[in-house]
Amino acid sequence: MIFRKATAGHNSSHPPKIPNSRQIVNLLKTGISLGLSRVSREPLILGSPIMLMVEPTTACQLKCPHCPTGRGELNRPEGRMKFEQFKFLWDSIQPTPLLLQLWNQGEPLLNPELAKIVNYAASQNCWVTLSSNVELLADRHKADSLVQSGLYELILSLDGASKETYSQYRVGGDFERVWIGIQNVVQSRKLNRSKYPIITWQYLLFKHTLAEVEKAKRLAKEWGVDKIVFKTAQLEDLSKSEGQRWLPDQSELRRYDLKKDRWQLRRSSNYFCKRIFSSAVIQWDGTVVPCCFDKTGEFIVGDAAVVGFPVVWSGKEFQAFRRNWLRGIRPEICSNCTEGLKNLYVNPRFVEI
Ligand code: SF4
Repeated sequence: MIFRKATAGHNSSHPPKIPNSRQIVNLLKTGISLGLSRVSREPLILGSPIMLMVEPTTACQLKCPHCPTGRGELNRPEGRMKFEQFKFLWDSIQPTPLLLQLWNQGEPLLNPELAKIVNYAASQNCWVTLSSNVELLADRHKADSLVQSGLYELILSLDGASKETYSQYRVGGDFERVWIGIQNVVQSRKLNRSKYPIITWQYLLFKHTLAEVEKAKRLAKEWGVDKIVFKTAQLEDLSKSEGQRWLPDQSELRRYDLKKDRWQLRRSSNYFCKRIFSSAVIQWDGTVVPCCFDKTGEFIVGDAAVVGFPVVWSGKEFQAFRRNWLRGIRPEICSNCTEGLKNLYVNPRFVEI
């Protein structure tokens, strides 16, 4: 559901952008790599990633029950990426990726150098997006620096349209602070005569959040949010009882079916993983994993902080991971990811209770 079209041409900050010739050539190379790898079952990497996910921090103030960080199951040290480290990694990737997603595990705004990181990447012809619970933007100064950083899109993780509903899943969350955070961004955009960052409200469809869908649509308009999207929820624990507790009864509002006492993803049988040929995830300490579904860092394919990202990207370990994937040797994480998923987002017209 889109309320307002974000258009160009307002402030001194960075969006919108047009890919430069090197980025376009890299895009074409990625397409060729994907096609040839799929046909030959041998990974062929001709370009650099068109999209990168960088983890600003693993720390979070919430305790969401189906997030490894919230559950205390991340099994890797808590930390944050420093700006100088980001700069070193980023500068080694040529051409600049078209898209930078600044999140993974943890709440990105807990990294005090986040706006600096956004600014650095956004000033190099890259769309930068951020996914956050936004509570820390209740600090007006933080909201101002984010608006001025050149951020393209702010994805608001908010499930529910009231204090009571919100904190059922976002344990420890403060609905009031989310509301203030959004107001701060909206006001700061006005003051800066900017339409960026675009604010996208991402509303997860849990059993307990369904009743507030209509209220959320109204609130989004009232608050000045640009877009609200309804997403099916991902569970970490796929046992029958957990699914029954959190997932909607209506099958079209969830991504899993119950089979033999376990919830199983509903996806195309011949799905292909495009991510590992076009993107990668850099964890806060510089180590690289193939995708964001490797939340615990089980499949580290190299340390970009030591050898530089390009060496890892086309290195032996990443290639071995890709080769295995092409030959059908897939780790457990692949059974609960979004590649080939049939209903990741739900059309708001169908969200009827
Ligand atoms: S979990 Fe597997 S299929 Fe999904 S993105 Fe990662 S590597 Fe690809």
